[in-house]
Amino acid sequence: MKQPRPHQIRSVEMIRETIAREKIKRIMLMLSTGAGKTVIAAMIIRMARAKGNRVLFVVDAISLINQTVEAFYEEGITEIGVIQADHPMTDWSRPVQVASVQTLQNRGMPNVDLVIIDEAHCQYEYMTKVMADPAWESTPFIGLSATPWAKGLGNVYKKLIQPITMQGLMDGGFLCPFRVFAAAHPDLSSVKNGADGDYAKGQLSEVMNDGALVADIVDTWKRKGAGRPTLCFCVDRAHAKQVQMRFESAGVPAGYIDKDTPDIERRAIRRQLDAGEIKVVCNIGCLTKGVDWAIGCVILARPTRSEMLYVQMVGRGLRVNEGIPDCIILDHADNTLRMGFVTDLNRTEMSTAVKGERAKVEKKEALPKECSSPNCNYIKPPKTRECPACGFAPEARSDIEEEDGELVEVKRGAKQKATMDTKQQWLAELNWIAQERGYKPGWPQRQYHNKFGVWPNQLNRAALSQPSPEVLSYVRSQAIRFAKGKGRAA
Ligand SMILES: [Zn+2]
Repeated sequence: MKQPRPHQIRSVEMIRETIAREKIKRIMLMLSTGAGKTVIAAMIIRMARAKGNRVLFVVDAISLINQTVEAFYEEGITEIGVIQADHPMTDWSRPVQVASVQTLQNRGMPNVDLVIIDEAHCQYEYMTKVMADPAWESTPFIGLSATPWAKGLGNVYKKLIQPITMQGLMDGGFLCPFRVFAAAHPDLSSVKNGADGDYAKGQLSEVMNDGALVADIVDTWKRKGAGRPTLCFCVDRAHAKQVQMRFESAGVPAGYIDKDTPDIERRAIRRQLDAGEIKVVCNIGCLTKGVDWAIGCVILARPTRSEMLYVQMVGRGLRVNEGIPDCIILDHADNTLRMGFVTDLNRTEMSTAVKGERAKVEKKEALPKECSSPNCNYIKPPKTRECPACGFAPEARSDIEEEDGELVEVKRGAKQKATMDTKQQWLAELNWIAQERGYKPGWPQRQYHNKFGVWPNQLNRAALSQPSPEVLSYVRSQAIRFAKGKGRAA
């Protein structure tokens, strides 16, 4: 068992408070990729067990039962029974029961004092029914989700708890930072909305299967993502197969996975990707959940209006992996320009829309913009004039520049360009601080990136130098900013 992280301890405390003080029994715990969901679930289970309470943990597929049991074992939770036909661990008397929602539907609920539901945004009809049943009224139900934004979720769960934001996880080194490049801009004006509010798949496939767009996926990857283990998200099978073929015929070995790909084949593809024998795996949505592959580049060839799908796709590239300093997102779908960076999608409320009603769309703050320097394609954060990737800054018309209808002050000359010597000195001092305080290996580079907007690629990364007051005060200010961000999230 590892020492729990502060946000993990905070998660459990917030749940305890909500149940004990606010007397709320239907709680949604929002945990982004990298937050350590299993560790937190195990902490909640241990807390319940310490009071002698029985717990049910619900997974959303029978195939996830064994890996869940294994993960709990690793966390020291061993008094587990599994509810599933012919499972060797079936034992209803054990205090921690693990079951799939499908099995519960057939066999009914066990006698427990606390229920934890994984991937709770999926809203299984059966669980929703149980949660509304007066017999279960006094039993706490805790939903876990990275994307608790499904329509109507707020009618089932009464409180949303977000112990840490995605940006917070990134600042703490639990999630990999990312850079987004806009690639092609597909014309989606002819694509209608489907029943789920997202683009109609058939029409979308037609648009995205265009030869030039598919060729551009391969060209862009060669320029910006080559060499990195890559996941490419496509619209449908025909599209994914087409993209895979294009990669292959360009001499880039590529794999293909859809939801019918047998487990053994998936594992083989993953092995090949890890070994570098294939570079790109084309897929359709099915690799969005529970996949922890070492990925350094994500290609978005699937335009979507669903923030859930968008976050799930990008999230696959944000796991921290040794040797991969950041994740490159090649957005061929304009998802970033349409919805903003995944780290900026900070919703604080669940949807309370009812069936048939349109989900409310929250007003977007300023959206990111593509750098206008030719061939850069970097997507800049909202209200950033100078491109962090290439340094290009479009001429401001005046000191007050209008952007997205809002007036934005552009401080000209405020940010002087740092010389290489200054940058090297900063890195050496950050290294010193990291070493002295026992920070994670990537910490100095990330701080450096926060400061200068670029990675210290051409610098001596091992250099050490005693920190100046300027660098110390910068690090302190970043920590305060981070703590404030956490306060807001709480
Ligand atoms: Zn640029």
